[in-house]
Amino acid sequence: MIESILNKASFSKEDLVLLLKAEGEDRTMLFKKAAEIRDQYIGKKVYFRGLIEFSNRCSKNCLYCGIRSGNTKTHRYMVTKDEVLECAKYAYEERYGSIVIQSGERSDKAFIVEIEELLHEIKKLSNGELGVTLSLGEQTEETYRRWFNAGGHRYLLRIEASDEELYHKIHPNDKTHDYHARLECLKTLRKIGYNVGTGVMIGLPFQTLENLADDLLFFEKLDIDMCGMGPFIEHEDTPLFQYRDQLLPKSERFDLSLKMVAILRIMMKDVNIAATTAMQTLDPAGREKAIRVGANIIMPNLTPVKYREDYLLYEDKPCIDEEAWECRSCLEARIKIAGGEIGYGEWGDSKHFQKRNS
Ligand code: SAH
Ligand code: SF4
Repeated sequence: MIESILNKASFSKEDLVLLLKAEGEDRTMLFKKAAEIRDQYIGKKVYFRGLIEFSNRCSKNCLYCGIRSGNTKTHRYMVTKDEVLECAKYAYEERYGSIVIQSGERSDKAFIVEIEELLHEIKKLSNGELGVTLSLGEQTEETYRRWFNAGGHRYLLRIEASDEELYHKIHPNDKTHDYHARLECLKTLRKIGYNVGTGVMIGLPFQTLENLADDLLFFEKLDIDMCGMGPFIEHEDTPLFQYRDQLLPKSERFDLSLKMVAILRIMMKDVNIAATTAMQTLDPAGREKAIRVGANIIMPNLTPVKYREDYLLYEDKPCIDEEAWECRSCLEARIKIAGGEIGYGEWGDSKHFQKRNS
């Protein structure tokens, strides 16, 4: 049965639910198909995005996140400009090709200017060669434009849950956590010319397989260029922790995440899909497994080690005490084992984006 679904040109919601339920031989067949599509459409290259977790100061209060403003236990930090530039220089010299600047959300003037200046400096120190993805939350069109003009060219803003009702269940219901505002941001980013990425958490409380099927259809409809999705992992100091007994076991959340990656690869053949850190958190070989079933982006952590334990979005985050070079040599071996090869010194923008813009 699954074979006939896999051979279709496009999937209905019902098809997707069946694929998400695949077990045994069906599951193997799904993963095999995803790997074939990957090899056929984008090849074996895996691209690095050196991750800088710039700051855990956040004006939002998402009910799932460990660095939400309401968590008074978190010690707040911001990486200094010199430190960011050092990370960027390292990434450039080691031929990572790209970095990601991610942070808690802030929209004050000082923050906007700080990021803009950093972008200019990063471009300068790398002769314009280092690619930069931003993941800095919801901003005004003007801010997005300023950062784009300063050199940011990819933007990651997860919708978190594409179902509006579910979105409301995992966010405070106020003006700063508005589903439609988030959607609008994704459209604005596209209009400005960014490579646009979004994604969801998998295994959230109240989430159904139908929701996940709709998430996949949402990505398709939005015609995204990149996707970052991974398992939801509960954090003790957050409101959603109270539902921990209702969650799927972690192994099932991981398996569902792998299936989401594989199915998306089959649906959107030439987009960039990240093997996320949250996947590695639930399974030490999680990122390699994701690469095997179609992911092609990996984000080695470059954040200075002294800050890492404060950027805990969820429990048991891995690699919080590993220096960048240790991360890199360990990753290189892991990617080889998973049958991939690293695209050193390349931006690795999604082919999907390149095609739309050519
Ligand atoms: N503030 C920015 C970027 C940092 S948060 C933003 O929210 O867009 C980056 C991502 O971490 C979020 O999009 C969310 O999907 C993920 N995240 C937060 N808490 C999590 C949790 N408990 N489990 C899994 N992922 C989580
Ligand atoms: Fe802030 Fe992002 Fe965490 Fe929400 S998910 S609390 S916006 S860092």
